[in-house]
Amino acid sequence: MIGLKSDFKNSKTSGKSMKFTFWGVRGSIPSPGPRTARYGGNTTCIEVRTDNDTLLILDGGTGLFALAQSLMQNKTGDIDANIFITHSHWDHIHGLPFFTPLFVRGSRVRLHGATDPATGNGIEHVMNVQLQNSYFPVSETQMSATIEYRSLVAGQPVTVGDATIAGVVMNHPVLNLGYRIDCQGKSLFFTGDHEPLYNIHPADHPAHAAYAQHVQARTAAIDAAVMGVDALIVDCSYTREEYPAKQGWGHGTFDAAFDLALRCGARSLYCTHHEPTRSDDELEAVFAAVLARYAPRLHGLTAILAREGLQVILS
Ligand SMILES: [Zn+2]
Ligand SMILES: [Zn+2]
Repeated sequence: MIGLKSDFKNSKTSGKSMKFTFWGVRGSIPSPGPRTARYGGNTTCIEVRTDNDTLLILDGGTGLFALAQSLMQNKTGDIDANIFITHSHWDHIHGLPFFTPLFVRGSRVRLHGATDPATGNGIEHVMNVQLQNSYFPVSETQMSATIEYRSLVAGQPVTVGDATIAGVVMNHPVLNLGYRIDCQGKSLFFTGDHEPLYNIHPADHPAHAAYAQHVQARTAAIDAAVMGVDALIVDCSYTREEYPAKQGWGHGTFDAAFDLALRCGARSLYCTHHEPTRSDDELEAVFAAVLARYAPRLHGLTAILAREGLQVILS
């Protein structure tokens, strides 16, 4: 069963369930204002609560600040947070220095993420670079929480509380791990930023055949990680009409998200990373057009536009 709620309460679920709440659904840059008030202007952040109430957070965009406020208001003990970063682009990390529990003694904050093979920078770099004196007034040594950094390797799952989290390499201009979370038989997958792989060489290019194999292997690895999830949360930045002008920028389309969900037997699809220039009305219009096209072949798949405050219970 998938239950939808629309409030920010951090209530505990009971028995073999997992739930998640969207705190930021916008791509690339925060986009507050009347045109985006219904779906929200904060950048990527998703709160996940496992069956035993372990707190996992997917990405630290500006939505992380609103989540922090909620955690502080509702806290009954020390906050223990595990933040999984998909990649180092601003819209996925910009809320990190404003995660209020960092300033509270007794809090424990673990930042998980991959080491960037291009630079050799570990996950600690996304925090260190933002805490440089030129950009932020407080240094890490002045933060009262216990802060830890955990390097992740794609294909090597880690256990946090009662959940298992596995990263798979997606397709983006920087290394981006998509995360699958499994807990008590429930599962979700979050792509972070992802452009479905395609052959970058024309058909008559000598490297075309080898690259086709590369595309096939990486797509198969992603599909295997997504297979059979209860909830699939996907970067849907563009419409199929907009995409050709943006190919290579590292983002996907609504159509590609639907195709991925159907191919992998996902039970529900949440479209997110909304284009920052798209108003709520425009967003609903383009989504309605995609839904109409896919309606004859959804085979029970539920598809929903992610919005700030949307809470989903998997039970
Ligand atoms: Zn992004
Ligand atoms: Zn990105």
